[in-house]
Parts: sequence; C-alpha cells; structure tokens
Amino acid sequence: MGAIVAVVGRPNVGKSTFFNRLIQRREAIVDAVSGVTRDRHYGKSDWNGKEFSIIDTGGYVVGSDDIFEKEIDKQVELAIDEADAIIFMVDVESGVTGMDEEVARLLRKVDKPVFLAVNKVDNAQRSTDAVEFYALGLGEYYPLSSINGSGTGELLDALVEVLPESEEEEDELPRFAVVGRPNAGKSSFINALIGEDRYIVTDIAGTTRDSIDTRYNRFGFEFNLVDTAGIRRKAKVKEDLEFYSVMRSIRAIEHCDVCLLVLDATRGFDGQVQNIFWLAQRNNKGIVVLVNKWDLMEKETNSVRDYQEKIKKQMEPFTDVPILFISVLTKQRIYKAIETAVEVYKNRSKKIPTRKLNDVMLPIIEHTPPPGYKGKYVKIKFCTQLPTPYPQFAFFCNLPQYVRDPYKRFLENKLREQFDFSGVPITIFMRKK
Ligand code: GDP
Ligand code: GDP
Repeated sequence: MGAIVAVVGRPNVGKSTFFNRLIQRREAIVDAVSGVTRDRHYGKSDWNGKEFSIIDTGGYVVGSDDIFEKEIDKQVELAIDEADAIIFMVDVESGVTGMDEEVARLLRKVDKPVFLAVNKVDNAQRSTDAVEFYALGLGEYYPLSSINGSGTGELLDALVEVLPESEEEEDELPRFAVVGRPNAGKSSFINALIGEDRYIVTDIAGTTRDSIDTRYNRFGFEFNLVDTAGIRRKAKVKEDLEFYSVMRSIRAIEHCDVCLLVLDATRGFDGQVQNIFWLAQRNNKGIVVLVNKWDLMEKETNSVRDYQEKIKKQMEPFTDVPILFISVLTKQRIYKAIETAVEVYKNRSKKIPTRKLNDVMLPIIEHTPPPGYKGKYVKIKFCTQLPTPYPQFAFFCNLPQYVRDPYKRFLENKLREQFDFSGVPITIFMRKK
C-alpha cells in the first residue's frame, strides 16, 4: 500500500500548483461535494521509486475570517487524522500571516512528520525572505517554487525518506475493506457480517499509524477487515461527512486486497460511488459491488438485470466485476458477498504458468493478430504474467509502440474469458523482443 501525504495551507499559497506538478499527467479525483466553496483533489505520485497518494485538502474558501479559520482548522485536523505525512505550505510573497501561525500551532502538537514548504521562492532575493518562516517554530523549512519546480526535489527526497514502507503481502489472509458513501449501510453490513465479538480472532495494529486490521473467522473463511469509517466512526460536521468518508475510503482501499463497495439501491451508482470505484481500480484492488437495501426496491421481472446493466455502463470499460443485490436488513446474500470477495481475492493472486498462458493466448493472437499500423505488422512472440501482487501481463513483440489500446483491450478480454479474473483490474504491457 502507498502512504498518504496531505498538503495543507491557506488558499492561494500555491497548493494546487504544487499538487498538479506532483501528479503530472495523472488524473486527479476531484471531490466537489461541498459545492462551490472548495474542491479537494486526490492523486498518486512517486519519487525515487516510492509511490504515495497526495491529497490537496482544500482550495478556495469564501466567507468571513471566522469561517475561514474554522475551515483551516478542519482541514488540518483531517490531515492529522488521515495522513502519514503533512506538507504545510506557506507563501513567501505574503510572509507569515496570522492564519499560518494558527496552522503551525496545530501542527506543532502532532507527532507525524510535518514539512514546511515555503512556496513562490522563484529567485535569490526571495530565498533570503524565506528565513522569516523559522518563526513558525516548525524547524527546518523547504524553500521552493511550485511554478518552476526548483526546490521541490529536496522536499520530496526528505518526504519519501519518512514514508512507511509498502506492506503488500505481509500476511496471506485476504484483506477486505467495506467502502461506500455515508448511509449506504456499511456499518450495518459489517455488524451483520462479523456478528458478535467472538468471531474476532485478534487485533493487529498495522505498521501504519491509525490503521487497524481485525482478523475474523466467519462462515468458514478467515480474513482481515480493514478499518473503515463504519468501524470507528467519528462525529463530524455533516457537510464534511462525505469528504471524510472519501478520505477513509482512500485509506482503506490503499490497505486492502478487495473492496466491498456498498451502495444504496435507492440512490444508485452515482458520481461519488464512481469515484470510489475508480480509486479501487486505479490502485489495482479487487472489487465486489454490493447493491444494498434491495428490500426497498419494487421488483419487476427484469429489475436485477436492468439495474445491473445500468451499473455496468457507469463502470466502463472495467465491467468484469461481480454485482450482488443484498439486503443487510433481511440478511439476504451476506454470506454470498463474502464468498464472492474470497473468489475475487483468489483471482487477484492467481498466477498463470507461462507455458499455459502461451498455449492459450498464442493461437488466439494468431487468429486475430494486431491490425497493421502505418504499413507495419506487429508480431507477438510470447507472453508472460509478471511476478506482481496483482495481475499484470507482458506481451513481447517486434514493434510494441504500434499496438494500440483497442487491441490491448481485446487481449485483456480474452484473458478474462480464458482464466477468470472477475473483479480484478488487469494491466497489459507490450514489450520489445
Ligand atoms: P492554492 O489556493 O493554495 O491551491 O493556490 P494555487 O495553486 O491556486 O496558486 C495561487 C496562485 O499562486 C496562482 O496564481 C499561482 O499561479 C501562484 N503560484 C503558485 N505557485 C507559485 C510559485 O512557485 N511562484 C509564483 N510566483 N507564483 C505561484
Ligand atoms: P453507513 O453510513 O454506510 O455505515 O450506513 P449504516 O450502516 O449506518 O446504515 C444507514 C441506514 O440504512 C441505517 O438506518 C440502516 O438501518 C439502513 N440500512 C442498512 N442496510 C439496510 C438494508 O439492507 N435495508 C434497509 N431498508 N435499510 C438498511
């Protein structure tokens, strides 16, 4: 799993500029729930080979200074709760402000790594000016320019140094995370699932602070349940609940093998659910979609099929995902949900022997070779599954750059047909041979 880094600071200091520089071309998830007042962004980045998630916890805030200050407090509190490290950004142009002092006051009490980034240090004069930020009492600072990139490398070197190591595969038990929007029924599902305390085998404190796996033995399956909002819910201001749950989802998704994505049948697979689905997919996690509160739906002949089709449209192009219709209230298909999650877990850790893979795939490729491109013909010679914790395949050929996405999707679909990777994202690489 990757670590989480939060960027906090007043509006206009350059947080988004910095964020965009870090995630480069990668897509960012935008959370615009709270409407016009602010957007929050989430993206993935890596530095020196270490991957991490980065969250820009707040953009523009309108309102009086009072509201403003409360917003900042919440932002910082959220970062303190959820992140492994915090970048506190200030602006050399404006110098130290009252708001900066307030944030510094909160951050001085935290025992997580805090990096003070003095932004907009675009030239030598400004690097002299930056000295005044020592007054914040946070020790060493990193002068940088988000616009031209200078100084950002030094900050990132120091940052990745303190991030926790990746924990993938430290335990062979499946790790499930129950994620979804507030009110979808996650807590009810977990309660129904784990029943009484006697099913708890042990609590394992993760190496990452604030994350706890709890080990369960239920329905004949042993698994770890990754801590989510549903388990340790904190009272939060209502308007923040949604984003808070996105933060928790990010944390839980990063930490699990399979996500059980719970949605409320009466609300459907809306934009927020799509965001969470997207997060799971981008992180190469297994996914099972649980359409909960099915008891509330009027059932007609084709309702399951129609509902399923609608969800699949939203999931495109990754549609090979189990969708179950459950009711936590009536305990309908709760067992099936876990059984399916275990299957997806197995699919995700499946390793196809190279010999078998080639025996199956080469004739298919022979029959439907990559289309010619600019008069060139691509010859795929063999393929192999890479030794990664989730399915990735390399196809070796003479002209990898000429294989376009539609053909890669064709290969992916064939792999899915032949080997069952239901619920699991697959990556395909074309390599030169
Ligand atoms: P945010 O509100 O903290 O996300 O700030 P933005 O990233 O939106 O930046 C606010 C303004 O500062 C924009 O006009 C940016 O172009 C500008 N800015 C950001 N980084 C730098 C920098 O390194 N140098 C200078 N001179 N301007 C910057
Ligand atoms: P969470 O915020 O996702 O953890 O959602 P909760 O578990 O707190 O559930 C939100 C509300 O939905 C509660 O009032 C539950 O009783 C209700 N609920 C949960 N599952 C079902 C279900 O299967 N059917 C119906 N009708 N209500 C449900």
